[in-house]
Amino acid sequence: MTDKPTKTTVIGWQGCTITVPEDWTIGAIGGDHTEGYLRIDGPDMPRVEVKFFERKGPVSIEEVVGSYLREMQKKRRRRDPEVKTKRDTRLLGRRRGGRAQLETFHWTDGERQAHGAAWQCAHCERTAIVQVLGPEGKPLEDLARELILSVSDHPQDGWVTWATYGLQCEVPEEFRLDGQKLMAGLLDLSFKLETESISIMRWGMADVALGDKDLKTWAQKELAGRLKGWDCTYEELEFNGHPAIAVSGEPSGMQARVRRFVLHCMRKPYGSNVRVLLWHCQPDKKLFCVQCIVDDSRLELPAEVCRRLVCHT
Ligand SMILES: [Zn+2]
Ligand SMILES: [Zn+2]
Repeated sequence: MTDKPTKTTVIGWQGCTITVPEDWTIGAIGGDHTEGYLRIDGPDMPRVEVKFFERKGPVSIEEVVGSYLREMQKKRRRRDPEVKTKRDTRLLGRRRGGRAQLETFHWTDGERQAHGAAWQCAHCERTAIVQVLGPEGKPLEDLARELILSVSDHPQDGWVTWATYGLQCEVPEEFRLDGQKLMAGLLDLSFKLETESISIMRWGMADVALGDKDLKTWAQKELAGRLKGWDCTYEELEFNGHPAIAVSGEPSGMQARVRRFVLHCMRKPYGSNVRVLLWHCQPDKKLFCVQCIVDDSRLELPAEVCRRLVCHT
């Protein structure tokens, strides 16, 4: 018997990505891009925990692992079974993948076990601790090795991969996560850079969401609140072979135009253009929407964000 996954999916959050079995999903998230936490749950139990933090200069991985395992001991309640830990397990052998300083560890409490690794990235100086959990007595080592080696702890080429519940998209590194809704029917990730923003939305069960409305009518109703204060034009077109609605607009109020003028005089960008692309991905029965509010200098960004979003496979 093997516990190796067949189908996999990517989960990406705050610059960390990991490839996991398809039916594992985000169970908990915390923190921001400087220090964060991510828990990924399998159908039966929490299966992966990722912790990361940014600290300039070298970090003692030995101490990081030591305090991580001590913390875990402290969280035990009196009647909980004893946790047995082992360090320097050589889980990854010589495969370090650009990780300066790396230590692997294992623990078991009689019911659960975990294989983990901690390292500081030679490229971005982020420190990451990743542990893969499983029931005690079942093989875990191969799976843990595979998952830990699939972890990337920093964005590639200035683009951060955000991936959860099957939605996979990329956003420029300068844009920071500003809000998220992770609901069964609607995923909504918003990012901000001063006055500019990117929002990526996905509705499941497109037919139910649309009801008897055509795409344009639905888009106008759905986007009305978001586009308040903008003079917009709607256009029907095709994207990725799907019916789509493109919206472009500029601020309707005098105030925003004055602000744009002032900021441009100060050579600062100002989000004075709204661009929305909303499309119906029929094969996946989903509706996708990318809304960007960008400066004149970044008018090519909206199309690039749409191009990088994984629509259907
Ligand atoms: Zn890194
Ligand atoms: Zn599609």
